[in-house]
Amino acid sequence: MSEALDLVKALIAFDTTSRGSNLSLIDFAEELLEKSGARCRRSYDASGAKANLFATIGPAGEKGEMDGGFVLSGHTDVVPVDGQDWASDPFRPEVREGRLYGRGACDMKGFIGVALALAPEMARTKLARPIHFALSYDEEVGCVGVQTLLNDLKKAGIKPALAIIGEPTLMKIVGAHKGGAVLVTRCRGHEHHSSAPEKGANAVMMAGEFVALLDDVWEGLKADDDPRFDPPHSTVQANKIAGGSAVNILAREAEVTWEYRALPDRDAAAIVETVKHRAAVEILPKYRARAAEAAFETDCRASYPGLVMDPESPALRLARAITGANQAEAVSYGTEAGHFQQAGIPAVICGPGSIDQAHRPDEFVALRELAACEAFLRKLIAKASAV
Ligand SMILES: [Zn+2]
Repeated sequence: MSEALDLVKALIAFDTTSRGSNLSLIDFAEELLEKSGARCRRSYDASGAKANLFATIGPAGEKGEMDGGFVLSGHTDVVPVDGQDWASDPFRPEVREGRLYGRGACDMKGFIGVALALAPEMARTKLARPIHFALSYDEEVGCVGVQTLLNDLKKAGIKPALAIIGEPTLMKIVGAHKGGAVLVTRCRGHEHHSSAPEKGANAVMMAGEFVALLDDVWEGLKADDDPRFDPPHSTVQANKIAGGSAVNILAREAEVTWEYRALPDRDAAAIVETVKHRAAVEILPKYRARAAEAAFETDCRASYPGLVMDPESPALRLARAITGANQAEAVSYGTEAGHFQQAGIPAVICGPGSIDQAHRPDEFVALRELAACEAFLRKLIAKASAV
């Protein structure tokens, strides 16, 4: 356990906030995995400043890595600490009262550190099927890196049998999550003196009506519910708004950043279409009548698919066999699991720490959670050794 704890601490000390490079952490993990004989491959983002690492310990199939194996998946990036009030330096991990504090402690360097610490043990064990590490970049900005990683695996003909996504679940098994997207709607208006509101199109007022529309769309989504989720329906929220230049000028531009979180087996694209259509017919005509250039323009900045509960999933079966649990939960936050499932790799989420501590000041993971994760992964190694 002390090796695992040291490794988690070492990972936290790399500031891998999504806006920066993650290469120092990737170099560190790759060197460590290679010492255990892992076969490593990287895939990069367009800038070359961020990389995914995919590493394999254990036997290669007849056609290279074709023959299955278990993926341990974790994202290397963390959310910013800007403006948060921390009791200690977020990038200098500290143990206090049975908890390890630091940015990424539970989301999700705890899981990655414990998994890396077991690499030498995996190398010593006679594995019947490989264990893979999938360490991604840019998860926190919309599951961007994992898509590059999965494309790279597809091109290389690598088809793992299943994936364990180590996001914080207090080591419970999560078999389903909502899908989501980040969207930006630009409201284009026409500037004019604000004493004559009908001679221009006020983009801030348009934005206000647009936000009210989102609220109404959310209300409409409540009719379709799945009690496994909390909240049990798809949601729509506007979380950021900007626009206007002065109190006495009708705003030319305003921008609303919004999101949906959709039940996993529903048509999420229909939510966006509904919003666009209703904005065009219910809000826009009034402003168009005042200024021809009035418009709503919506772009999708990032999206991730939901994870659909599949009781027959080999990932779920393995996680159940290891933990003895016969229940799998459903959650409303997104993870890379949906992308794995969509790529034909069954996935479950199971990792140390609580999602309640993720993204917050004084993020921590309880040491007993790290120990439970280590015990889980030891059993997984045993399963990978069984013929
Ligand atoms: Zn995470």
